[in-house]
Amino acid sequence: MSKILIIGGGFGGLSAASRLYKLRDKLSVTLIDKKDTVDFLPMLPDCIGRGICPQALSYKIEKLARKFGFKFILKEVTAIDLDKKEASAGSEKFNYDYLIIASGSETNFYGNDNIKERAYTLDSVNDSGKIIEALRRRKFDNFIVGGGGYTGIEVATNLRLFLKNAKSPGRIIIVERSPAILGPLPEWMKKYVISNLKRLEIEVFVNSTIDKIEEDKVYFSEGRIINNAFTIWAAGVKTAGFIQDLKIDKNPQGRIKVDEYLRLNDSCFIAGDAANFSYKNIFLRMAVQFAIIQGDSAAANIIRDIKGLPLRKYRPLDLGYIIPMANNRSCGRVLGLNMKGVLPTIFHFIMCIYRSYGLKNKFAIIRDLIKGGRK
Ligand SMILES: Cc1cc2nc3c(=O)[nH]c(=O)nc-3n(C[C@H](O)[C@H](O)[C@H](O)COP(=O)(O)OP(=O)(O)OC[C@H]3O[C@@H](n4cnc5c(N)ncnc54)[C@H](O)[C@@H]3O)c2cc1C
Repeated sequence: MSKILIIGGGFGGLSAASRLYKLRDKLSVTLIDKKDTVDFLPMLPDCIGRGICPQALSYKIEKLARKFGFKFILKEVTAIDLDKKEASAGSEKFNYDYLIIASGSETNFYGNDNIKERAYTLDSVNDSGKIIEALRRRKFDNFIVGGGGYTGIEVATNLRLFLKNAKSPGRIIIVERSPAILGPLPEWMKKYVISNLKRLEIEVFVNSTIDKIEEDKVYFSEGRIINNAFTIWAAGVKTAGFIQDLKIDKNPQGRIKVDEYLRLNDSCFIAGDAANFSYKNIFLRMAVQFAIIQGDSAAANIIRDIKGLPLRKYRPLDLGYIIPMANNRSCGRVLGLNMKGVLPTIFHFIMCIYRSYGLKNKFAIIRDLIKGGRK
């Protein structure tokens, strides 16, 4: 019996586990995750403004373990030894014949421990619960969002919706280190987002970073200081610590360079955010759609390898992307078409409901979306 070890029970890892179920008689599959739930990350910002109940975005991995016949271990992987084919979680060791690394990504503080300690993040359902609790507990005059990428923009627009529903004023600022928000995205999209942010009275500080946070005081690189501020840090991600420690070919975020079969070597496959896959000289962005198909493809290739069949190349299909904004003026490119307004917002939520785990959760998301954050 071949021993398969999957690190990470998110989109990529669970998709791999469901594919491996097809060969369950010949495999022993173990999945390790540091959380006991799979969290539906794309809707975390909606917990703030649209009032999505965080629990509706969370599903017990143990339930999926029963469905897909794998053994679930609740532990954090701290190291892997590719030569010994062994993963460690503290002092405990797990050996494998095949490994799938699907440990996703986490907030990058770029070595600033002060921000790590003081700012809120959005890496899990637990994080969105903490943000809601803090916002309900106390009134702030200023709301600072670190990072002008997709997540930062989505978070800022949700903060405005939260304040609107609470009939509360508040200054919202997105802080972006580079000269413009949304980096490499097309100009029309940037213009649309910027005009929507203006409409929502969300300010953008470009060429600026947060230096430090003291209590509720935020210090910026150019010398500005903002008082009574609530800060959410969404300025970039990196891969898990055990990947950062590996001496292998990675990009600056620590994503592992993989071959066309999603392999690091003959026994180790990578899926999702942890994989740095290049297709037609473009590296794939981090997205749910790629994580799911990569998890499935990695598992399918393991099955083919066990059966002595040649491996299949992974060929990504990009369905597009959306920048969801909480006043329903989203924009994006879906199936090759540029879109803005309500339609991409609807597509985003259809994708979210379709991809989330559990019927009960799906209904709870629909119920909360209809309520729209109003009490
Ligand atoms: C706020 C937010 C909004 C987003 N919005 C969108 C969107 O609108 N559309 C879109 O396509 N994508 C979106 N993304 C990105 C998308 O969620 C990721 O690309 C996707 O989750 C990647 O899947 P994955 O399987 O690689 O990792 P994940 O789904 O993150 O799963 C990784 C799993 O590994 C576990 N893990 C990590 N380290 C360890 C360890 N050392 N030991 C054990 N377990 C570990 C984690 O607990 C987690 O369960 C968003 C992400 C965030 C954070």
